[in-house]
Amino acid sequence: MIFDSHMHVGSFESMFRVSLDRDGMVDLMRENEIENGVVFHPDNAYVAQVVESIPGLTWPSITFAQRMSVWLGQREVRIMHLGRAHTAGDVVAWVPDARVVFSGDLVEYRSACYCGDAHFTDWPATLDRLSALGAQAMVPGRGAALGTPAKTAEGIAMTRDFLGTLYGAVGRSVAAGHSLKQAFSAARTVMDPKFSSFAIYEHCLPFNVARAFDEAKGIDHPVIWTAERDREMWAALQG
Ligand SMILES: [Zn+2]
Repeated sequence: MIFDSHMHVGSFESMFRVSLDRDGMVDLMRENEIENGVVFHPDNAYVAQVVESIPGLTWPSITFAQRMSVWLGQREVRIMHLGRAHTAGDVVAWVPDARVVFSGDLVEYRSACYCGDAHFTDWPATLDRLSALGAQAMVPGRGAALGTPAKTAEGIAMTRDFLGTLYGAVGRSVAAGHSLKQAFSAARTVMDPKFSSFAIYEHCLPFNVARAFDEAKGIDHPVIWTAERDREMWAALQG
């Protein structure tokens, strides 16, 4: 079984060069000989806006509000939306009989979190709900599998620290009326000493600061990463 834990909103020309369209998904499943796929997208007006703005995306055929169970023989896999965090529509896969959770990008281990579509204010409470599952083990979005409750807690704490440090710095910059470029260097001052060794840290930082900057200014839905938006961000950072 393959499950797509969340979607990102953009064409990603300058980023990961991944395709989330239907053909991409079909190819991935064929290559890996996977028969069943579950895709969750938040079912609201935002999705309509995203579907309209990104060629190739199609509407989901099954939706759910909070959770659904998929049975692999006798084994239940519970797919749950625990709240907004890394995106508006993150889901985790919880395997109750093994007490194992696949967190998607809600948690990264020794890797930066990509926050270009994030909800920084909601993310910590969503992590609280993830912790409350009491997992024996966790497979994070990036980094090594966390094989014990202590390792799982460490991964969650690390993610919390990354987000809090970033959003704290950018929030202070916004409150002081600083520019995006100033917010970027303020974020770097506090983030670099702790996180510069993390995978994809440099790659994510401009997008992370840009989204944090927007959210601190009260923009609730992440702005869609079109090619123009991408160019505007780089111009503001270099200007
Ligand atoms: Zn992601």
